[in-house]
Amino acid sequence: MIAGISPQAPVLVVGAGPAGATAARALALARVPVRLLDRSVFPRNKPCGGGISVRALRRFPYLERELHRIATHAVARLYLEGPDGEAAVVESDGPAALMIRRIEFDALLVSLAQEAGAELVTGADVVQAREDRDVVTLTTRDGRRFASPVVIAADGVHSVVARRTGINSGWPASAVALDMMEETPRSALRDLDPTTLWVAYGFNPARSGPVKGHRAPEGYAYIFPKRDHVNIGIGYVLSHYREAIAAAPYTLQRGFVAMLRDRGIVAGESVRNNFTPFLIPVGGPLRAPARGRVLLAGDAGGFVNGVTAEGIYYAMVSGELAAQTVAGASGVSQLARRYRRACDYEIGAELRDSVLLQRFLFADRRRIARVIDGARREPEMTRSILEFAAGRGSYRQLRRRLLAGAPMLASRLVWERLRKNFVVRRTRPS
Ligand SMILES: Cc1cc2nc3c(=O)[nH]c(=O)nc-3n(C[C@H](O)[C@H](O)[C@H](O)COP(=O)(O)OP(=O)(O)OC[C@H]3O[C@@H](n4cnc5c(N)ncnc54)[C@H](O)[C@@H]3O)c2cc1C
Repeated sequence: MIAGISPQAPVLVVGAGPAGATAARALALARVPVRLLDRSVFPRNKPCGGGISVRALRRFPYLERELHRIATHAVARLYLEGPDGEAAVVESDGPAALMIRRIEFDALLVSLAQEAGAELVTGADVVQAREDRDVVTLTTRDGRRFASPVVIAADGVHSVVARRTGINSGWPASAVALDMMEETPRSALRDLDPTTLWVAYGFNPARSGPVKGHRAPEGYAYIFPKRDHVNIGIGYVLSHYREAIAAAPYTLQRGFVAMLRDRGIVAGESVRNNFTPFLIPVGGPLRAPARGRVLLAGDAGGFVNGVTAEGIYYAMVSGELAAQTVAGASGVSQLARRYRRACDYEIGAELRDSVLLQRFLFADRRRIARVIDGARREPEMTRSILEFAAGRGSYRQLRRRLLAGAPMLASRLVWERLRKNFVVRRTRPS
């Protein structure tokens, strides 16, 4: 174990969302003393669509037997729409996505961490973090101090720990999406087909308005059916939202719900009090998600899929990898490098590709149309994607199939990889 970690100076995990709670559970199970800090008291809400690809259950098998404690809703059908109204319905043989409410899911993960032996401290709003030679010290808003030889920062997209330690000074507006969403009981607002995830990619809120060039609006819109609720939202890359969208967030949302109602897709009314705009890092993980004695997991490290904005799965994976890296280390000198390598090995390729794919698709709306057309015409390709979402195929296999069917995209990905490696090599100190 890393020198200095003890029951009196446990590993500190900041943030008890999916990344932090998973990290704390894994550390406790490895018999590493751990203290999980969060500014909230659980159960607490987190703005989120609450859609998890079913592969999370394969990756975290213990989840399946615990999910009966909360409301879940499994979905096997996806409706996908492009910026010009082109559409396809994709169906999988079994459930591909699991719908949960974060207020319940996160409380469940925190309970699992506590049941494994993690100590939970709520109401601990970390405002300062400082790394010295042998110790990292965190200070909370109410003046408490916590010190540890190692900190896993899982404090979300606005990570105070990442900022205060200088690991990430903040995301540029092109690397975050503003997701504007409401989670409303079905008694007030409901989608008329709760068996289907409804997703519009390159969503254009003024579909009848003039279209300039071939670029697609850099955003999406969705309806996620829950057992007793529905989540309806729109997300835009923040830089695009600032440049191209004039409407205020809730005006957009109300207009979107009205449009869905006119099209016979939902019934009922939007509820303002359930509406919570929030940021998602969609520009890919930080090149260095750790430094010295501090490891960033989940949104704090940018572990989100750039195309789907799926972050729960990657938060849990990066949280667990951070914990395993800490539990398996005998010193801190290699900690950051080992963690980066572990993340890179398991989720690096898919997250990097997702960002390239996001940019590739938004650059030309006709590419989105071709993807949607392909979903209809090439059932084998579609099946591979669904198998991957369900956890029955690896990303490596999926990538090979996708690239074989899309030579333009393949050459773009190869070029971007080469370019990045070239830049890294040139800038590496000799
Ligand atoms: C509107 C919206 C819709 C989304 N939809 C989906 C979806 O359908 N599926 C999906 O997979 N992903 C979705 N995402 C992304 C997903 O919500 C995140 O990727 C995920 O929550 C990241 O988990 P995390 O544990 O890293 O951080 P979080 O879930 O943000 O948890 C961070 C925790 O840290 C605590 N904290 C923060 N700052 C401090 C501090 N200073 N001191 C102490 N504690 C602190 C917070 O209270 C919180 O509990 C969505 C995001 C948004 C905004």
